[in-house]
Amino acid sequence: MLQITCPYCGCRDETEYSFGGESHVSRPAPDAGDAEWSDYLFNRSNPRGIHYERWQHRFGCGRWFNIARDTVSHEIYATYEMGDARPDLPGKADN
Ligand SMILES: [Zn+2]
Repeated sequence: MLQITCPYCGCRDETEYSFGGESHVSRPAPDAGDAEWSDYLFNRSNPRGIHYERWQHRFGCGRWFNIARDTVSHEIYATYEMGDARPDLPGKADN
């Protein structure tokens, strides 16, 4: 079981959280073409390595935040607030 550190509450068991998909996905402009909208709606990265994800502390404070997690080892390198930029992870392969 993962131990996830909520930026607002501290470290809790994974069972208190809900996964919300990939983070840092930008919505296209309203007049974007079908290909761009299709890519936004249906395609997500599926890296082997660092993945930036949104999580909600559903059975805690209820707030959303981001996690930088390794998809192979499940190690969590960073948790950070929504709206913050991706953290610098020196020495870690990035996607
Ligand atoms: Zn929390």
